[in-house]
Amino acid sequence: MATATQAVRLEDNVTRYVSKTRQMLINGKWVDAASGKTFPTYNPATGEVLAQIAEGDREDINRAVAAARAAFDSGPWSKITPSERGRLIWKLADLVEKHGEEFAQLESLDNGKPLTIARVADVPLTADIFRYMAGWATKIEGNTIPISAHGAKFLAYTLREPVGVVGQIVPWNFPLLMAAWKLAPALATGCCVVLKPAEQTPLTALLLGELIQEAGIPDGVVNIVPGYGETAGAALAAHPGVDKIAFTGSTEVGKLIVQAATGNLKKVSLELGGKSPNVVFQDADIEATIPGAAMAIFFNHGQCCCAGSRLYVEDKQFDKVVEGVSQLASKIRVGPGLEPTTDMGPLVSQEQLNRVCGYLESGYSEGAKATVGGKRHGDRGYFVEPTVLVNTNEKMKVVREEIFGPVVTAIPFKDVDDLVAKANNSEYGLAAGVWTNDIKKAHRIASQLRAGTVWINCYNVFDAALPFGGYKQSGWGREMGHEVLEMYTEVKSVCTPIA
Ligand code: ADP
Repeated sequence: MATATQAVRLEDNVTRYVSKTRQMLINGKWVDAASGKTFPTYNPATGEVLAQIAEGDREDINRAVAAARAAFDSGPWSKITPSERGRLIWKLADLVEKHGEEFAQLESLDNGKPLTIARVADVPLTADIFRYMAGWATKIEGNTIPISAHGAKFLAYTLREPVGVVGQIVPWNFPLLMAAWKLAPALATGCCVVLKPAEQTPLTALLLGELIQEAGIPDGVVNIVPGYGETAGAALAAHPGVDKIAFTGSTEVGKLIVQAATGNLKKVSLELGGKSPNVVFQDADIEATIPGAAMAIFFNHGQCCCAGSRLYVEDKQFDKVVEGVSQLASKIRVGPGLEPTTDMGPLVSQEQLNRVCGYLESGYSEGAKATVGGKRHGDRGYFVEPTVLVNTNEKMKVVREEIFGPVVTAIPFKDVDDLVAKANNSEYGLAAGVWTNDIKKAHRIASQLRAGTVWINCYNVFDAALPFGGYKQSGWGREMGHEVLEMYTEVKSVCTPIA
């Protein structure tokens, strides 16, 4: 079996996936790709093949869109009551929880993240978003509007209706959770879905597909088509039968999605890259800030679009904070995700390993120095050492571009206005952190930062009720909270004279 460790006994539902071929879900049936092709998904701790997956392509996307279209236009989903939709979504949340250990193990094997993290973050947050959105299914309301048109008295009101068939393309960093962030609001609003998981990490989405069926969500409402981005993903983004595309991934691909969507002007929502500033003032509680700043970058191996990857520290505390974060980094135990002692697993793929190591090399060539880590870890699997880079400045690629790995650049600052300008000097605007005990300053800086989320004296706090998304090139629209419902509904104005 292609696992790096036998330390954890794998659940039966997990061994069922390992070394096997998995099909795709179209119209309630598990089927092979129309082409008959499969592609491998790898265990990033070893580089070995974990399973073979049916390789979806244009033809499979066509079949899946047709199924979603039928379920939406004339199938059971169009007739179901909001309360019944909510009940089914809630049931799905219960099933996710019931199969939580299986999800955690599969995620750890396929993505590389520590099992312990998948258990406490990915799985419970997935159940949470389904429960939160189950509650919204019965609360998607329009308004009555007093209008002033002449000649008659009018009754005018709005209806919020589902946008229709939604294509959802998700990344590999939180495979299950990103699928859930997208599926939950779509189901709550009454949309039908074609979901394309990332080619690196399709396994948990496929298990979720089985539970969607077990929950009783009708055939065709959720179709899951694994495959490559350039083929299956591009076909979905361009498909004329899709009313909306929701994408999470790189800014580069986000721009391709926008172009592909122009054919039928489908609605687009995007959750893209980031290069988030994490700002430490000298009046911060430094003992709490150091682990906070370390977690901000090293959580999920830095493979978070909101990772606090640019650490700005007020100059008097710079050495202390850099030393503290470096010390914590040096204690992070890097190893296979399934090992109980592992704090940080491998990066997801050889490509990611090359990318992160390439950025490290670029940083060194421009004068950066690593105070800790700074290179690949071991020679098997895709591990990188947690790294803190100093001697960096805003001109360097490592400070400007998203690395998507466990690498933070640390830069001192003196002047607050200068700091705000530097923090905002990025094409991204996804998230930011502010560490200070001065409450006025905290909120003043929060208002000045051009970012979709600002964490004050904390980082990486997510909640199903809290909107998440980006300013600038970090995206369009918000996920979670009730804001996301606007992206899955159309507003219809109805008006009639009544006197
Ligand atoms: P990363 O660079 O971090 O791998 P990507 O943005 O490439 O992230 O991938 C995120 C998701 O987008 C994946 O599901 C991937 O298959 C998909 N994808 C990649 N390229 C395209 C494309 N041209 N059209 C549609 N989807 C794509």
